[in-house]
Amino acid sequence: MKDVVLVTGSSRGIGKAIALRLAKSGYQVVIHYRIQQKEADAVQEQINALGGQSRVLQFDVTDREQARSVLNEDINQNGAYYGVVCNAGITSDAAFPAMTGEQWDNVIHTNLDSFYNVLNPVTMPMVRRRKPGRIVTIASVSGLIGNRGQVNYSAAKAGIIAATKSLALELAKREISVNCVAPGFIETEMTDQIPVEEALKLIPFRRAGKVEEVAALVNFLISPESSYITKQVIAVNGGMC
Ligand code: NDP
Repeated sequence: MKDVVLVTGSSRGIGKAIALRLAKSGYQVVIHYRIQQKEADAVQEQINALGGQSRVLQFDVTDREQARSVLNEDINQNGAYYGVVCNAGITSDAAFPAMTGEQWDNVIHTNLDSFYNVLNPVTMPMVRRRKPGRIVTIASVSGLIGNRGQVNYSAAKAGIIAATKSLALELAKREISVNCVAPGFIETEMTDQIPVEEALKLIPFRRAGKVEEVAALVNFLISPESSYITKQVIAVNGGMC
């Protein structure tokens, strides 16, 4: 049977590119979404067209009980995952004095609490497989160097980086690697409101990144070729930091 990889937030953007890249590499992909079922189904059709295998799960990563229940059911029916990519995330930008409590909470719950909500139910089944496994988290350049208007998002992403390193230490003896990918400015719906000219001034490559460029790195980290890499934060950002 093909190794199975869950990719959260794979209905769109970077997660979709990761799901397609992993399917091309021969993994069975668990596509995941919160609201946009049509987009998730379209990703599944694209994987089918490639001759790949996938299934679709729906849950809100901020809802701890829902996430646990859906993931437990999927694992009970289909077996433990070989890999998990924690990709689902949101931004809700504002200058800090104007940032509402709701903006703070939404961003922390979606980007940081999801680390626990998704990985806690899946980790023990991964350990019980008694085989190597892979976890990749998606942080951001904002979590490394900070960004104006993103105090909430930077805090969440920096939290993910620290959590990734600690989990890597816990799972190392099981040969389950835990690494973090920190993208810079990547063209997706998340960034389509940001003035490109302003962003480009900060990027030595003088262009935005493509979702496929993030997916290529995640694919490598999921693959057996990355077998001696763990606890690392790898940036894909055209030289931003
Ligand atoms: P998109 O907005 O294009 O896609 C977000 C994905 O996350 C969607 O699949 C969405 O599902 C899912 N999602 C959002 N909130 C939830 C939730 N509460 N529960 C479950 N799923 C949810 O984002 P990107 O592809 O741009 O970003 C993907 C990741 O990369 C994020 O973690 C982001 O922080 C990070 N990143 C992005 C950068 C960029 O420049 N684009 C730069 C640095 C990091 P649905 O379709 O159902 O809404």
